[in-house]
Amino acid sequence: MEKIRTRYAPSPTGKMHVGNLRSALYEFLIAKHAGGDFMLRIEDTDQERFVDGAIDIIYRTMEKTGLIHDEGPDKDGGYGPYVQSERMKTGIYMKYARELIDKGEAYYCFCDKERLASLKTEVVEGKEISIYDKHCLGLSQEEIQANLEAGKPFVIRQNIPNEGKTTFHDELYGDITVDNSELDDMILIKSDGFPTYNFANVVDDHTMNITHVVRGNEYLSSSPKYVRLYDAFGWQVPVYIHLPLITDENHKKLAKRSGHASFEDLLEQGFVTEAIINYIALLGWSPEDNREIFSLQELIEEFDYRRISKSPAVFDIVKLRWMNGEYIKAMDFDAFFEMAEPCLQAALPGEFDLKKIAAMVKTRIEVFPDIPEMVDFFRELPEYDAAMYTHKKMKTDAASSLEVLKEVLPILEDQEDYSNDALYQALSSYVERKGCKNGYVMWPVRTAVSGKQMTPAGATEIMEILGKEESLRRIRKGIELLRNA
Ligand code: GLU
Repeated sequence: MEKIRTRYAPSPTGKMHVGNLRSALYEFLIAKHAGGDFMLRIEDTDQERFVDGAIDIIYRTMEKTGLIHDEGPDKDGGYGPYVQSERMKTGIYMKYARELIDKGEAYYCFCDKERLASLKTEVVEGKEISIYDKHCLGLSQEEIQANLEAGKPFVIRQNIPNEGKTTFHDELYGDITVDNSELDDMILIKSDGFPTYNFANVVDDHTMNITHVVRGNEYLSSSPKYVRLYDAFGWQVPVYIHLPLITDENHKKLAKRSGHASFEDLLEQGFVTEAIINYIALLGWSPEDNREIFSLQELIEEFDYRRISKSPAVFDIVKLRWMNGEYIKAMDFDAFFEMAEPCLQAALPGEFDLKKIAAMVKTRIEVFPDIPEMVDFFRELPEYDAAMYTHKKMKTDAASSLEVLKEVLPILEDQEDYSNDALYQALSSYVERKGCKNGYVMWPVRTAVSGKQMTPAGATEIMEILGKEESLRRIRKGIELLRNA
Protein backbone atom coordinates (compact mmCIF):
# COMPACT_ATOMS: atom_id res chain seq x y z
CA MET A 1 0.00 0.00 0.00
CA GLU A 2 1.04 3.53 -0.74
CA LYS A 3 2.62 5.35 2.20
CA ILE A 4 0.25 7.84 3.79
CA ARG A 5 1.37 11.44 3.51
CA THR A 6 -0.53 14.22 5.22
CA ARG A 7 0.26 17.89 5.42
CA TYR A 8 -0.40 20.71 7.78
CA ALA A 9 -0.74 23.83 5.67
CA PRO A 10 -1.15 26.86 7.90
CA SER A 11 -1.33 30.43 6.69
CA PRO A 12 0.93 32.63 8.83
CA THR A 13 -1.78 35.00 9.96
CA GLY A 14 -1.26 35.22 13.73
CA LYS A 15 -2.02 33.14 16.78
CA MET A 16 -2.56 29.39 16.57
CA HIS A 17 -6.34 28.99 16.53
CA VAL A 18 -7.67 25.88 18.27
CA GLY A 19 -9.20 24.78 14.94
CA ASN A 20 -5.84 24.98 13.20
CA LEU A 21 -4.12 23.12 15.98
CA ARG A 22 -6.76 20.40 15.72
CA SER A 23 -6.15 20.11 11.96
CA ALA A 24 -2.43 19.79 12.62
CA LEU A 25 -3.03 17.20 15.33
CA TYR A 26 -5.39 15.06 13.25
CA GLU A 27 -3.08 15.23 10.25
CA PHE A 28 -0.18 14.19 12.44
CA LEU A 29 -2.17 11.36 14.02
CA ILE A 30 -3.53 10.03 10.74
CA ALA A 31 -0.02 9.87 9.30
CA LYS A 32 1.64 8.44 12.40
CA HIS A 33 -1.11 5.90 13.08
CA ALA A 34 -0.38 4.44 9.64
CA GLY A 35 3.39 4.82 9.83
CA GLY A 36 3.23 7.62 7.27
CA ASP A 37 4.81 11.04 6.86
CA PHE A 38 3.56 14.34 8.18
CA MET A 39 4.60 17.43 6.28
CA LEU A 40 4.54 21.14 7.01
CA ARG A 41 3.77 23.58 4.21
CA ILE A 42 3.55 27.31 4.80
CA GLU A 43 0.75 28.90 2.78
CA ASP A 44 1.79 32.51 2.53
CA THR A 45 0.36 33.50 -0.83
CA ASP A 46 -2.21 35.82 0.68
CA GLN A 47 0.18 38.70 1.21
CA GLU A 48 -2.50 40.91 2.77
CA ARG A 49 -3.12 38.51 5.63
CA PHE A 50 0.55 37.83 6.36
CA VAL A 51 1.56 38.67 9.93
CA ASP A 52 5.18 39.08 10.95
CA GLY A 53 6.27 36.49 13.51
CA ALA A 54 3.41 34.14 12.66
CA ILE A 55 5.75 31.57 11.12
CA ASP A 56 7.68 31.42 14.40
CA ILE A 57 4.40 30.80 16.23
CA ILE A 58 3.76 27.83 13.94
CA TYR A 59 7.19 26.29 14.57
CA ARG A 60 7.08 26.94 18.29
CA THR A 61 3.63 25.43 18.68
CA MET A 62 4.48 22.31 16.74
CA GLU A 63 7.62 21.75 18.73
CA LYS A 64 5.95 22.39 22.07
CA THR A 65 3.04 20.09 21.31
CA GLY A 66 5.22 17.32 19.91
CA LEU A 67 3.62 17.43 16.47
CA ILE A 68 6.96 16.91 14.84
CA HIS A 69 6.92 17.11 11.07
CA ASP A 70 8.96 14.77 8.93
CA GLU A 71 9.35 17.33 6.17
CA GLY A 72 9.01 21.06 5.94
CA PRO A 73 10.85 24.28 5.16
CA ASP A 74 13.47 23.33 7.75
CA LYS A 75 13.61 19.62 6.81
CA ASP A 76 13.92 18.83 3.17
CA GLY A 77 12.28 15.60 2.13
CA GLY A 78 12.65 16.06 -1.60
CA TYR A 79 9.31 17.77 -2.20
CA GLY A 80 10.38 21.37 -1.60
CA PRO A 81 10.21 24.23 -1.57
CA TYR A 82 7.78 23.99 1.35
CA VAL A 83 6.78 27.64 1.41
CA GLN A 84 4.28 28.70 -1.22
CA SER A 85 5.87 32.06 -2.00
CA GLU A 86 9.08 30.17 -2.77
CA ARG A 87 7.20 27.62 -4.82
CA MET A 88 5.75 30.47 -6.80
CA LYS A 89 9.20 31.68 -7.77
CA THR A 90 9.83 28.33 -9.45
CA GLY A 91 6.97 29.17 -11.84
CA ILE A 92 5.08 26.01 -10.92
CA TYR A 93 1.62 27.58 -10.53
CA MET A 94 1.82 29.53 -13.76
CA LYS A 95 3.02 26.46 -15.61
CA TYR A 96 0.04 24.40 -14.47
CA ALA A 97 -2.39 27.28 -15.03
CA ARG A 98 -1.20 27.51 -18.64
CA GLU A 99 -1.66 23.79 -19.02
CA LEU A 100 -5.28 24.25 -17.98
CA ILE A 101 -5.70 27.10 -20.43
CA ASP A 102 -4.40 24.87 -23.20
CA LYS A 103 -6.89 22.22 -22.19
CA GLY A 104 -9.78 24.70 -22.22
CA GLU A 105 -10.22 24.25 -18.47
CA ALA A 106 -9.11 27.79 -17.60
CA TYR A 107 -8.96 31.18 -19.30
CA TYR A 108 -7.45 34.65 -19.02
CA CYS A 109 -9.77 37.28 -17.64
CA PHE A 110 -9.00 40.97 -18.17
CA CYS A 111 -12.15 42.43 -16.59
CA ASP A 112 -11.47 45.49 -14.50
CA LYS A 113 -12.87 46.25 -11.04
CA GLU A 114 -15.68 48.40 -12.44
CA ARG A 115 -16.94 45.69 -14.70
CA LEU A 116 -16.74 43.08 -11.93
CA ALA A 117 -18.59 45.39 -9.55
CA SER A 118 -21.44 45.69 -12.03
CA LEU A 119 -21.99 41.93 -12.15
CA LYS A 120 -24.92 40.17 -10.54
CA THR A 121 -24.39 39.06 -6.96
CA GLU A 122 -25.72 36.03 -5.17
CA VAL A 123 -25.83 35.22 -1.50
CA VAL A 124 -23.91 32.02 -0.79
CA GLU A 125 -23.66 30.82 2.83
CA GLY A 126 -24.53 34.28 4.12
CA LYS A 127 -21.91 36.03 1.99
CA GLU A 128 -22.66 38.15 -1.03
CA ILE A 129 -20.53 37.02 -3.93
CA SER A 130 -20.53 38.10 -7.53
CA ILE A 131 -20.86 35.38 -10.10
CA TYR A 132 -18.53 35.87 -12.99
CA ASP A 133 -20.38 35.84 -16.32
CA LYS A 134 -17.63 34.20 -18.40
CA HIS A 135 -17.27 37.39 -20.41
CA CYS A 136 -13.58 36.80 -21.16
CA LEU A 137 -14.12 33.20 -22.18
CA GLY A 138 -15.46 34.68 -25.41
CA LEU A 139 -12.27 36.61 -26.27
CA SER A 140 -10.55 35.59 -29.46
CA GLN A 141 -6.98 34.34 -29.48
CA GLU A 142 -5.90 37.64 -31.07
CA GLU A 143 -7.64 39.75 -28.44
CA ILE A 144 -6.01 37.77 -25.67
CA GLN A 145 -2.59 38.09 -27.30
CA ALA A 146 -3.01 41.83 -27.78
CA ASN A 147 -4.08 42.32 -24.17
CA LEU A 148 -1.13 40.34 -22.88
CA GLU A 149 1.30 42.21 -25.08
CA ALA A 150 -0.17 45.52 -23.93
CA GLY A 151 0.57 44.43 -20.37
CA LYS A 152 -3.09 44.57 -19.36
CA PRO A 153 -3.58 43.14 -15.86
CA PHE A 154 -5.24 39.74 -15.84
CA VAL A 155 -6.32 36.89 -13.66
CA ILE A 156 -6.71 33.26 -14.70
CA ARG A 157 -10.06 31.64 -14.00
CA GLN A 158 -11.21 28.06 -13.89
CA ASN A 159 -13.67 27.27 -16.65
CA ILE A 160 -16.60 25.36 -15.20
CA PRO A 161 -19.45 24.41 -17.53
CA ASN A 162 -22.91 25.63 -16.63
CA GLU A 163 -24.43 22.23 -17.26
CA GLY A 164 -23.90 18.87 -15.62
CA LYS A 165 -22.92 17.85 -12.13
CA THR A 166 -19.73 17.23 -10.18
CA THR A 167 -19.39 14.52 -7.55
CA PHE A 168 -16.65 14.03 -5.03
CA HIS A 169 -16.10 11.83 -2.03
CA ASP A 170 -15.32 12.78 1.55
CA GLU A 171 -14.46 10.06 4.04
CA LEU A 172 -16.87 11.47 6.61
CA TYR A 173 -19.56 13.09 4.48
CA GLY A 174 -19.69 10.41 1.80
CA ASP A 175 -20.43 11.27 -1.84
CA ILE A 176 -21.42 14.86 -2.45
CA THR A 177 -22.89 15.93 -5.79
CA VAL A 178 -23.45 19.52 -6.84
CA ASP A 179 -24.86 21.16 -9.97
CA ASN A 180 -22.06 22.78 -11.96
CA SER A 181 -24.25 25.85 -12.36
CA GLU A 182 -23.65 26.48 -8.64
CA LEU A 183 -19.88 26.62 -9.10
CA ASP A 184 -18.36 29.94 -10.11
CA ASP A 185 -15.36 30.34 -12.37
CA MET A 186 -12.98 30.91 -9.48
CA ILE A 187 -9.71 32.73 -9.83
CA LEU A 188 -6.67 30.47 -9.96
CA ILE A 189 -3.95 33.07 -10.50
CA LYS A 190 -4.42 36.58 -9.09
CA SER A 191 -3.43 39.80 -10.85
CA ASP A 192 -0.31 39.98 -8.64
CA GLY A 193 0.79 36.66 -10.10
CA PHE A 194 0.22 34.74 -6.88
CA PRO A 195 -1.96 31.65 -6.99
CA THR A 196 -5.12 31.62 -4.89
CA TYR A 197 -5.41 29.06 -2.13
CA ASN A 198 -8.01 27.41 -4.35
CA PHE A 199 -5.43 26.65 -7.00
CA ALA A 200 -2.27 26.27 -4.93
CA ASN A 201 -3.76 23.63 -2.63
CA VAL A 202 -4.44 21.36 -5.60
CA VAL A 203 -1.11 21.86 -7.34
CA ASP A 204 0.82 21.51 -4.10
CA ASP A 205 -1.04 18.54 -2.68
CA HIS A 206 -0.55 16.69 -5.94
CA THR A 207 3.07 17.61 -6.57
CA MET A 208 3.99 16.97 -2.96
CA ASN A 209 2.38 13.56 -3.15
CA ILE A 210 -0.17 14.15 -0.39
CA THR A 211 -2.50 11.17 0.01
CA HIS A 212 -4.90 12.47 2.68
CA VAL A 213 -6.15 16.05 2.86
CA VAL A 214 -7.49 16.89 6.29
CA ARG A 215 -8.95 20.35 6.86
CA GLY A 216 -11.86 22.33 8.28
CA ASN A 217 -15.24 21.84 6.65
CA GLU A 218 -15.33 25.45 5.50
CA TYR A 219 -13.48 24.01 2.48
CA LEU A 220 -16.15 21.42 1.77
CA SER A 221 -18.17 23.66 -0.54
CA SER A 222 -15.15 24.46 -2.73
CA SER A 223 -14.01 20.87 -2.98
CA PRO A 224 -16.04 20.07 -6.14
CA LYS A 225 -14.03 22.78 -7.90
CA TYR A 226 -10.77 21.26 -6.66
CA VAL A 227 -11.87 17.82 -7.82
CA ARG A 228 -12.57 19.25 -11.26
CA LEU A 229 -9.01 20.55 -11.34
CA TYR A 230 -7.58 17.14 -10.40
CA ASP A 231 -9.69 15.58 -13.14
CA ALA A 232 -8.64 18.19 -15.68
CA PHE A 233 -4.99 17.38 -15.01
CA GLY A 234 -5.68 13.67 -14.91
CA TRP A 235 -4.38 13.48 -11.33
CA GLN A 236 -5.58 11.19 -8.59
CA VAL A 237 -7.86 12.96 -6.11
CA PRO A 238 -6.56 12.64 -2.53
CA VAL A 239 -8.63 11.17 0.28
CA TYR A 240 -10.64 14.07 1.72
CA ILE A 241 -11.43 14.36 5.41
CA HIS A 242 -13.29 17.55 6.30
CA LEU A 243 -13.40 18.19 10.02
CA PRO A 244 -16.47 19.38 11.93
CA LEU A 245 -16.88 22.95 13.05
CA ILE A 246 -15.70 23.87 16.55
CA THR A 247 -18.21 26.04 18.40
CA ASP A 248 -18.20 27.91 21.68
CA GLU A 249 -20.60 27.19 24.54
CA ASN A 250 -23.31 29.16 22.70
CA HIS A 251 -22.96 26.99 19.62
CA LYS A 252 -21.44 29.83 17.61
CA LYS A 253 -18.20 29.34 15.70
CA LEU A 254 -15.33 29.49 18.20
CA ALA A 255 -14.06 33.03 17.76
CA LYS A 256 -11.24 35.12 19.20
CA ARG A 257 -13.57 37.01 21.51
CA SER A 258 -14.37 33.79 23.42
CA GLY A 259 -10.99 34.39 25.08
CA HIS A 260 -9.90 30.81 24.65
CA ALA A 261 -9.77 30.35 20.90
CA SER A 262 -6.03 30.06 20.52
CA PHE A 263 -3.26 27.85 21.89
CA GLU A 264 -1.52 30.97 23.25
CA ASP A 265 -4.68 32.05 25.12
CA LEU A 266 -4.88 28.65 26.76
CA LEU A 267 -1.23 28.63 27.79
CA GLU A 268 -1.63 32.09 29.28
CA GLN A 269 -4.59 30.85 31.27
CA GLY A 270 -2.45 28.19 32.87
CA PHE A 271 -3.35 25.09 30.89
CA VAL A 272 -0.64 22.53 30.29
CA THR A 273 0.27 21.58 26.74
CA GLU A 274 -0.45 17.85 27.11
CA ALA A 275 -3.93 18.53 28.46
CA ILE A 276 -4.68 20.97 25.66
CA ILE A 277 -3.63 18.43 23.05
CA ASN A 278 -5.61 15.66 24.76
CA TYR A 279 -8.68 17.85 24.92
CA ILE A 280 -8.38 19.05 21.32
CA ALA A 281 -8.07 15.44 20.15
CA LEU A 282 -11.57 14.88 21.50
CA LEU A 283 -13.04 17.87 19.66
CA GLY A 284 -14.65 15.84 16.93
CA TRP A 285 -13.09 12.44 17.55
CA SER A 286 -13.84 9.77 20.12
CA PRO A 287 -12.38 6.36 20.85
CA GLU A 288 -14.46 3.20 20.92
CA ASP A 289 -14.74 3.19 24.69
CA ASN A 290 -15.39 6.17 26.92
CA ARG A 291 -11.77 6.76 27.72
CA GLU A 292 -10.79 10.41 27.87
CA ILE A 293 -7.18 10.68 28.98
CA PHE A 294 -4.64 10.05 26.24
CA SER A 295 -1.00 10.89 25.82
CA LEU A 296 0.11 11.81 22.33
CA GLN A 297 1.63 8.35 21.92
CA GLU A 298 -1.63 6.72 22.95
CA LEU A 299 -3.53 8.91 20.52
CA ILE A 300 -1.25 7.75 17.72
CA GLU A 301 -2.11 4.17 18.58
CA GLU A 302 -5.85 4.74 18.93
CA PHE A 303 -6.59 7.31 16.26
CA ASP A 304 -8.92 5.86 13.66
CA TYR A 305 -10.11 8.74 11.50
CA ARG A 306 -13.30 6.89 10.67
CA ARG A 307 -14.43 7.75 14.18
CA ILE A 308 -14.32 11.51 13.52
CA SER A 309 -17.80 12.93 13.89
CA LYS A 310 -19.62 15.22 11.48
CA SER A 311 -21.51 17.12 14.17
CA PRO A 312 -20.07 20.36 15.48
CA ALA A 313 -17.79 19.96 18.47
CA VAL A 314 -18.45 22.25 21.41
CA PHE A 315 -15.36 23.70 23.05
CA ASP A 316 -16.21 23.25 26.71
CA ILE A 317 -13.77 25.16 28.87
CA VAL A 318 -15.16 23.51 32.03
CA LYS A 319 -14.27 20.10 30.65
CA LEU A 320 -10.81 21.31 29.64
CA ARG A 321 -10.29 22.65 33.17
CA TRP A 322 -11.24 19.28 34.59
CA MET A 323 -8.86 17.51 32.21
CA ASN A 324 -6.07 19.93 33.06
CA GLY A 325 -6.63 19.14 36.74
CA GLU A 326 -6.17 15.45 35.96
CA TYR A 327 -2.85 16.21 34.23
CA ILE A 328 -1.70 18.32 37.16
CA LYS A 329 -2.56 15.52 39.60
CA ALA A 330 -0.58 13.04 37.55
CA MET A 331 2.44 15.33 37.19
CA ASP A 332 5.75 14.55 38.76
CA PHE A 333 6.11 16.79 41.84
CA ASP A 334 9.27 18.57 40.76
CA ALA A 335 7.85 19.44 37.36
CA PHE A 336 4.69 20.62 39.07
CA PHE A 337 6.61 22.75 41.53
CA GLU A 338 8.54 24.42 38.77
CA MET A 339 5.32 25.51 37.12
CA ALA A 340 3.51 26.38 40.36
CA GLU A 341 6.33 28.33 41.99
CA PRO A 342 5.74 31.68 40.25
CA CYS A 343 2.05 31.66 41.27
CA LEU A 344 2.96 30.66 44.83
CA GLN A 345 5.65 33.27 45.11
CA ALA A 346 3.37 36.01 43.85
CA ALA A 347 0.66 35.05 46.33
CA LEU A 348 2.94 34.38 49.30
CA PRO A 349 5.96 36.61 49.35
CA GLY A 350 8.12 35.97 52.39
CA GLU A 351 8.97 33.07 54.59
CA PHE A 352 6.67 30.29 53.54
CA ASP A 353 7.53 26.70 52.89
CA LEU A 354 6.32 26.81 49.31
CA LYS A 355 7.06 23.15 48.63
CA LYS A 356 4.75 22.05 51.39
CA ILE A 357 2.04 24.41 50.19
CA ALA A 358 2.55 23.22 46.62
CA ALA A 359 1.96 19.64 47.75
CA MET A 360 -1.32 20.75 49.36
CA VAL A 361 -2.71 22.37 46.24
CA LYS A 362 -1.45 19.89 43.65
CA THR A 363 -4.49 17.66 43.79
CA ARG A 364 -6.93 20.50 44.18
CA ILE A 365 -6.32 22.95 41.38
CA GLU A 366 -7.47 22.74 37.79
CA VAL A 367 -5.19 25.44 36.40
CA PHE A 368 -2.18 27.18 37.95
CA PRO A 369 -3.92 30.54 38.34
CA ASP A 370 -6.30 28.81 40.79
CA ILE A 371 -3.42 28.80 43.27
CA PRO A 372 -3.35 32.39 44.65
CA GLU A 373 -6.97 32.40 45.71
CA MET A 374 -6.48 29.04 47.40
CA VAL A 375 -3.42 29.99 49.44
CA ASP A 376 -3.62 33.71 50.12
CA PHE A 377 -5.10 33.12 53.59
CA PHE A 378 -1.64 31.97 54.70
CA ARG A 379 -0.36 35.49 54.16
CA GLU A 380 -3.29 37.25 55.74
CA LEU A 381 -6.31 36.04 57.64
CA PRO A 382 -9.30 37.21 55.59
CA GLU A 383 -12.28 38.93 57.15
CA TYR A 384 -14.85 36.24 57.75
CA ASP A 385 -18.25 35.80 59.25
CA ALA A 386 -19.00 33.95 62.50
CA ALA A 387 -21.68 32.02 60.60
CA MET A 388 -18.85 30.05 59.04
CA TYR A 389 -18.41 28.17 62.31
CA THR A 390 -21.81 26.60 61.92
CA HIS A 391 -21.65 23.25 60.15
CA LYS A 392 -24.58 20.89 60.20
CA LYS A 393 -22.69 17.67 59.56
CA MET A 394 -19.94 18.48 62.04
CA LYS A 395 -22.65 19.47 64.53
CA THR A 396 -20.94 22.76 65.26
CA ASP A 397 -22.34 26.24 65.80
CA ALA A 398 -21.08 29.53 67.22
CA ALA A 399 -21.51 28.46 70.85
CA SER A 400 -19.85 25.04 70.46
CA SER A 401 -17.02 26.58 68.48
CA LEU A 402 -16.39 29.25 71.10
CA GLU A 403 -16.18 26.58 73.78
CA VAL A 404 -13.81 24.41 71.73
CA LEU A 405 -11.51 27.30 70.79
CA LYS A 406 -11.34 28.47 74.40
CA GLU A 407 -10.42 24.97 75.49
CA VAL A 408 -7.81 24.29 72.81
CA LEU A 409 -6.12 27.69 73.22
CA PRO A 410 -4.15 26.72 76.38
CA ILE A 411 -3.25 23.35 74.81
CA LEU A 412 -1.85 25.11 71.77
CA GLU A 413 -0.11 27.68 73.92
CA ASP A 414 1.68 24.91 75.80
CA GLN A 415 2.51 23.02 72.63
CA GLU A 416 6.14 23.49 71.59
CA ASP A 417 6.29 21.22 68.60
CA TYR A 418 4.28 22.79 65.78
CA SER A 419 4.71 20.01 63.30
CA ASN A 420 1.55 18.65 61.74
CA ASP A 421 1.89 15.26 63.46
CA ALA A 422 2.49 16.66 66.93
CA LEU A 423 -0.36 19.15 66.61
CA TYR A 424 -2.64 16.40 65.37
CA GLN A 425 -1.70 14.28 68.38
CA ALA A 426 -2.41 17.12 70.76
CA LEU A 427 -5.82 17.90 69.29
CA SER A 428 -6.71 14.21 69.02
CA SER A 429 -6.16 13.64 72.71
CA TYR A 430 -8.36 16.63 73.43
CA VAL A 431 -11.06 15.10 71.15
CA GLU A 432 -10.76 11.86 73.07
CA ARG A 433 -11.03 13.51 76.46
CA LYS A 434 -14.03 15.47 75.34
CA GLY A 435 -15.64 12.38 73.82
CA CYS A 436 -16.72 14.15 70.65
CA LYS A 437 -16.20 13.60 66.94
CA ASN A 438 -13.03 14.85 65.27
CA GLY A 439 -14.86 17.38 63.11
CA TYR A 440 -16.46 18.96 66.13
CA VAL A 441 -13.00 20.27 67.03
CA MET A 442 -11.20 20.42 63.71
CA TRP A 443 -13.88 22.46 61.96
CA PRO A 444 -13.73 25.46 64.32
CA VAL A 445 -9.93 25.29 64.58
CA ARG A 446 -9.53 25.20 60.83
CA THR A 447 -12.03 28.03 60.41
CA ALA A 448 -10.16 30.13 62.95
CA VAL A 449 -6.72 29.61 61.42
CA SER A 450 -7.83 30.07 57.82
CA GLY A 451 -10.95 32.23 57.82
CA LYS A 452 -12.11 30.13 54.90
CA GLN A 453 -14.82 27.63 54.18
CA MET A 454 -12.53 25.62 51.95
CA THR A 455 -8.81 25.16 52.38
CA PRO A 456 -6.25 23.00 50.63
CA ALA A 457 -5.33 21.26 53.90
CA GLY A 458 -6.56 20.42 57.38
CA ALA A 459 -6.28 22.52 60.55
CA THR A 460 -3.01 21.10 61.82
CA GLU A 461 -1.25 21.20 58.44
CA ILE A 462 -2.22 24.85 58.17
CA MET A 463 -0.89 25.58 61.66
CA GLU A 464 2.37 23.89 60.83
CA ILE A 465 2.84 26.37 57.97
CA LEU A 466 1.70 29.37 60.01
CA GLY A 467 3.85 28.55 63.04
CA LYS A 468 2.97 28.96 66.68
CA GLU A 469 2.69 32.68 67.02
CA GLU A 470 0.46 33.29 64.02
CA SER A 471 -1.70 30.23 64.76
CA LEU A 472 -2.36 31.45 68.31
CA ARG A 473 -3.09 34.97 67.09
CA ARG A 474 -5.73 33.57 64.73
CA ILE A 475 -7.30 31.31 67.36
CA ARG A 476 -7.58 34.28 69.73
CA LYS A 477 -9.11 36.34 66.97
CA GLY A 478 -11.66 33.57 66.40
CA ILE A 479 -12.58 33.59 70.07
CA GLU A 480 -13.02 37.33 69.90
CA LEU A 481 -15.23 37.11 66.83
CA LEU A 482 -17.42 34.42 68.40
CA ARG A 483 -17.75 36.31 71.66
CA ASN A 484 -19.13 39.27 69.78
CA ALA A 485 -21.35 37.21 67.52
N1 GLU B 1 -3.93 27.59 4.51
C1 GLU B 1 -5.20 27.01 4.77
C2 GLU B 1 -5.67 27.44 6.16
O1 GLU B 1 -4.86 27.82 6.97
C3 GLU B 1 -5.06 25.51 4.71
C4 GLU B 1 -6.29 24.74 4.51
C5 GLU B 1 -5.90 23.32 4.13
O2 GLU B 1 -5.49 22.59 5.02
O3 GLU B 1 -6.03 22.97 2.95
O4 GLU B 1 -6.85 27.43 6.41
